Amino acid sequence: MRAIVDGARCTGHARCKASAPEVFALDNLGCALPGEHAVAAGAEAAARRGASACPEGAITLE
Ligand code: SF4
Repeated sequence: MRAIVDGARCTGHARCKASAPEVFALDNLGCALPGEHAVAAGAEAAARRGASACPEGAITLE
């Protein structure tokens, strides 16, 4: 699985990291690091939680 963060949509709620700290990291402005991130085996459910928590729909899972 990959988590793709659309930096243009992210507004820095940090809810993704709060829901799934093992998957999502934030920059120093509180926005999720943009781009594609590999989801470690076993962290798929967390990735889904984090994506669902994003109010901007900025996270896509593939
Ligand atoms: S929850 Fe969404 S808007 Fe907030 S930091 Fe994460 S990706 Fe960005």
